[in-house]
Amino acid sequence: MALYVQKFGGTSVADAERIRGVAEQVARCRRRGDQVVLVVSAMGKETDDLLRLAAEVSTDLPGREMDMLITAGERKAIALVAMALEAAGVPAESYTGSQAGFVTDTNHRNAKILEVGAERIRAALDAGRVPVVAGAQGVSTDRDVTFLGRGGSDTTAVALAKALGADACELYTDVSGVFTTDPRVVSTARRMHAITFDEMLEMTAAGCPKPAMRSVEYAHRHGVPLHVRSAFTWEPGTWVVEESSDMEAALIRSVVADSSEAKITVSGVPDEPGVAARLFRDLADADVNVDMIVQNVSEGGVTDISFTVPHTDLDRAISVCESQSAVSGAQKIVSDHRIAKVSVVGAGMKSNPGVAATVFEVLASHGINIEMISTSAIRISCVIAEDSADQAVQVLHDAFELDATTF
Ligand code: ADP
Ligand code: ASP
Ligand code: MG
Repeated sequence: MALYVQKFGGTSVADAERIRGVAEQVARCRRRGDQVVLVVSAMGKETDDLLRLAAEVSTDLPGREMDMLITAGERKAIALVAMALEAAGVPAESYTGSQAGFVTDTNHRNAKILEVGAERIRAALDAGRVPVVAGAQGVSTDRDVTFLGRGGSDTTAVALAKALGADACELYTDVSGVFTTDPRVVSTARRMHAITFDEMLEMTAAGCPKPAMRSVEYAHRHGVPLHVRSAFTWEPGTWVVEESSDMEAALIRSVVADSSEAKITVSGVPDEPGVAARLFRDLADADVNVDMIVQNVSEGGVTDISFTVPHTDLDRAISVCESQSAVSGAQKIVSDHRIAKVSVVGAGMKSNPGVAATVFEVLASHGINIEMISTSAIRISCVIAEDSADQAVQVLHDAFELDATTF
C-alpha cells in the first residue's frame, strides 16, 4: 500500500464537473489499495478575483486581512472536494491549513512554514478517510491566518508529503508534466520524463511557474519524490529527481520566458565606492526583490545602473531610487515594464562552450535586441522587448532542437 499526497491546481478543480472528476480519480486510487491525502487550490482564477476585489476597496492591502481573504478561496474548494468524495463513496474530511497543523511565521502574504504537525491528518488516514487540505495556508505564531504566497499550494503538498513520509508528492495540473518550454506558447514542446532538481530550480528561478519554486526547494532539501502530471488525462508525467549516473546531461533542456519583471535604469550615478551598496540596501529594506543587475563602464566619473524587479515592486523601487538620487546625484531614472527575460537552462552547458554565443546569434538573426544578460553555471538569461518574447522562445527552442530530443 502506497501513500500519495496529490495536489490539484485551480484549473483542475475549476467547476463541479472537474471536482467530480478528481473525486472519481481518488476513488480509483483507493480501489487499487493506495492511501491518498489531497491538497487543493482555490477554484479556477478565484485567487486573482479576490486580489482584484481587495484592490477595489483598499490601496494599502493590510496583510492580515489580505490573508484572511485569499485563504477563503481554498477553504471553499476543500469543502466541495470533500463533499464530492463522499458522494463518490469515499469517506473524506476537509482541513484548513491551521487544522492540518501548518504553523508559519508572521510574514503575511508570503509566510514561511515553521512546522507541520500532521497528527490529525495521520489520524484521519488511519481511520480510512481521505483528508482534503487547503493549500497555501497556515496559522502564524501570533495565531493569525497566513497565506504562503502565489503557488503556495505546491509547497503545502510537498511539506505534507515530507511530514507524512509519503511515497510521492504528485502535483496534478492542466498540462501533462514539465515541458521543454511552455506548451501553450510552442506547440512542439516536449514533455520530459525526468528532470534534475538543479535544472528544475534554475527553470523556476527563470520564471517557469510549474512547480512553484519554494516547493522544488523544499522537495530537494527533504528528498521528497516529486511527480508533475495531468489532472485531465491522468497519464504519467515528469519526475523531478536527484541526478543519476545514467542521466545524460543535456546541453539545453528547456527555454523559459518571464514577463513579470520591469527594468529600471538609474543614469549618471557617480562612479565611486558605496553608491551601489546604498541603493541596493535601500531597495532591500523596502522589500524590493531585485533580479538582474548591470552596471555600465563609467565615463567622466559617472555610470548607469540597470536592474530588474517584479512589476508588483516597480512603484516602490522607483520611489527608493528617487529618494536615493537626491543623495547620490543620479541624473535620470527611467523604467520599462514591457520587457521579458528569456532563459535557456541545461546542465550540459557547464562542459560545453559556445552555448551563449549560439543564444546571441539566434536572437540577432531574428532581429531581437538583447538589453541585459546574466548567467549561472547552467543558465543563460537575456532581457529583450516583451513583444518579442514568444518569437524568441520559439526560435531558441528550434535552434537547440528541443522538439526532437527525448529526455
Ligand atoms: P496550477 O494551477 O495547477 O498550480 P499553474 O497554472 O501554476 O498550475 O502552472 C501550469 C501552467 O504552467 C501550464 O498551464 C503551462 O502553460 C505553464 N508552463 C509554463 N512553462 C511550462 C513548462 N516548461 N512546462 C509545463 N508547464 C509550463
Ligand atoms: N490559489 C493560490 C494561487 O493562485 C495558491 C496556489 O494555487 O498555489 O496562487
Ligand atoms: Mg499554480
